[in-house]
Amino acid sequence: MDLAYLSIGEAHKLLVDKKVSATQLTQYYLDRIAKYDGKVRACLTVCTAEALAAAKQVDAKIAAGQDIGMLEGIPYTAKDMFLTKGVRTTAASKILDNFIPPFSATVNEKLDAAGAVMIAKTNHDEFGHGTSTKNSAYHPTHNPWNLDHVPGGSSGGSAAAVAADFGVFSLGTDTGGSSRQPASDCGVTGFKPTYGLISRYGVVAMASSFDTVGVLARTAEDVSIVVQAVRGRDHRDATTIDVRTNSDLEKDWQGKSVGVVKEYVDQLEEKSKQLLEQALEDLRSIGIMIKEVSIPTIADALPAYYVLVPSEISSNLSRYDGIRFGHSSEQAYTLRETYDKTRDEGFGDEVKRRVLTGTYTLSAGYYDAYYNKAMQVRTQLRQDFARAMEGVVALVGPTAPSPAVRFTDKRDPIEEYMLDIMTVAANLVGIPSVSAPMGFVDGMPVGIQIMAPQTKDDVVLSLAAAYQGKTAWHDLKQRSPQL
Ligand code: GLN
Repeated sequence: MDLAYLSIGEAHKLLVDKKVSATQLTQYYLDRIAKYDGKVRACLTVCTAEALAAAKQVDAKIAAGQDIGMLEGIPYTAKDMFLTKGVRTTAASKILDNFIPPFSATVNEKLDAAGAVMIAKTNHDEFGHGTSTKNSAYHPTHNPWNLDHVPGGSSGGSAAAVAADFGVFSLGTDTGGSSRQPASDCGVTGFKPTYGLISRYGVVAMASSFDTVGVLARTAEDVSIVVQAVRGRDHRDATTIDVRTNSDLEKDWQGKSVGVVKEYVDQLEEKSKQLLEQALEDLRSIGIMIKEVSIPTIADALPAYYVLVPSEISSNLSRYDGIRFGHSSEQAYTLRETYDKTRDEGFGDEVKRRVLTGTYTLSAGYYDAYYNKAMQVRTQLRQDFARAMEGVVALVGPTAPSPAVRFTDKRDPIEEYMLDIMTVAANLVGIPSVSAPMGFVDGMPVGIQIMAPQTKDDVVLSLAAAYQGKTAWHDLKQRSPQL
């Protein structure tokens, strides 16, 4: 039977109809990983025994004639920033090389309870710092569409895993675009929720006021099913909110207005611009009215992000001290040496760069000039987004300025940071946003980004689903990477 690129609904039906067992389904993805991950390198740890044991339980339930839920027996992968009880979790860093968490993230607990089967932990930029997955302390991940290109980042392993059919969906994180940008680069759908919609408990912290749990899948409909299962208030994460997301995706868009963000479109390469034009035409064909909106302060979003996020990183990463958990230098004899050598040996260059920058921006004498100024920009941006969204249901634009770059493209850190230019604003403002495939530039996929006001997660997912109802760019059964 052809199991390629199943959606959650299709896999569920095959299980219910007993056309395939949960064990066979799990084995299909494990076999794909065994066959192709030598090229793609999306996975850091494959959980063969645990996955097959979980699948067996689902099969027992089916054999006993019990009903199964939508996610029961559905194989998925998770970024290695999600703590998974008893399964090595590294944050793609040497400092957590052999860390086995004593508990699981709330999101993984919820997926376990829903019967989903985690088959692998995926690669990413160390602690989520990057846009290429080249900053992993282990190895880079390759883009399934062309192995000479990066998969984007930081959740590059998750995006590549979804594109290469190493699971039905994947968990990512999104602090400044890490689920959307790799989704754009790998031709899949990547979602960042409203800040607080999904619990961050048990997710390795990067910048706590920006961090969100992302979901990547082939379609917005699948993303929506996963979000239903994992969202909600969690007493272990005080920033969580209880917003109902609707399982019935909105279908009637007649007469609704959507704003296209001028500042993003202006920065787009010509070929991507044409694809965006076509995507706007597709939206018009479902009755949507497109109008141009301008948010001039968007230009300040990236500089503000790269002050605030390193500040929070420097504070969050102080816990890796060589004493509490993770790597501890064997060359250290005093407390001071333990801190210095552990962190020197354990952290990669980009992580060190951010810890240093953040320590500087938070230090006495520079705090007002950098941190406070950036906080003012954040407030201004919130107001400007609120104004831009008056009278429209959503904002749209590209997800990234270009398709996935090649490994041989040498970039300095600032040029790397520039790739985040279209995604960081949603995290500064805390709004939901999704990237959906909108075509190919020179054989590489690119995405359209849809944003909406806080708690309107349904709107971005419904609109992406409506767009996918009109287009086939997301349909990997029709066109998929040749590995
Ligand atoms: N690329 C961005 C950064 O390097 C975003 C990372 C993320 O969302 N984790 O900070």
